[in-house]
Amino acid sequence: MTIDSHCHLDQADYTEPVSDVVARAQSAGVDHILAVACSPDDFDELLNLLKKYPCLYGTFGIHPEYAHKKQDIENLKKYIKKSGAVAVGECGLDYHEAEATKEQQRALFLSQIDLAHELHLPLMIHSREAEGDTRDILRKAYKEGKLADGFVLHCFSGSLDMAKEAVKMGGYLSASGVLTFKNADRVREIFTEIPLENLLVETDAPYLAPHPLRGKPNEPAYVQYTLAKLAEIKGVSEKEMEKITTENFNRLYKRGHK
Ligand SMILES: [Zn+2]
Repeated sequence: MTIDSHCHLDQADYTEPVSDVVARAQSAGVDHILAVACSPDDFDELLNLLKKYPCLYGTFGIHPEYAHKKQDIENLKKYIKKSGAVAVGECGLDYHEAEATKEQQRALFLSQIDLAHELHLPLMIHSREAEGDTRDILRKAYKEGKLADGFVLHCFSGSLDMAKEAVKMGGYLSASGVLTFKNADRVREIFTEIPLENLLVETDAPYLAPHPLRGKPNEPAYVQYTLAKLAEIKGVSEKEMEKITTENFNRLYKRGHK
């Protein structure tokens, strides 16, 4: 019993029907999947998937790569409410080859922090090459009480300082397939320092397939590789790590059993 706490299931990303991808996850012991829509163009597709597959949870947000477009936060709010989404996001900052300016990205991130606070939902945060600004924004939001419903830094590969500060603010750090990459010693070292009760696992499928599948399209079934690596570096059994990350997921997203 594992949960893939972050993946994208837009049909355009897969060469097979999403029903096959979901079925393979379930046979691999991945009993729940948190599917992420990060562009308004994908909101209807995720809404339909959530209706169709009881094993899916959903989160809706606007990714920083779309921050230069005209934003409709009311529309985002409508989808979150009618879908029963468990979080707001992914949202955040991405300064890697960004088309949107930093100002546009920060404004869009702030408006989704406010939305999460208003709806009493946790935030699913993306941060790439933007750790300083992400940290400043989170610090301020935390002081203002806007992170009271929790947050996760998804696909975490930032610094130890960032990890420690996120933990202090009650945040979660999610390990992706990157944790299994041969050249990712630094990421593994940082994860050894993160308390067990702040850990999540994810695929970020269809991206970032774990070793030894690196380079192939990723899918939720492969979250087991990351979970096994995380168990190894934390010195607990895989069963124990499944239990810990599932409890963490349920605590963050306020779920009992689904
Ligand atoms: Zn993602």
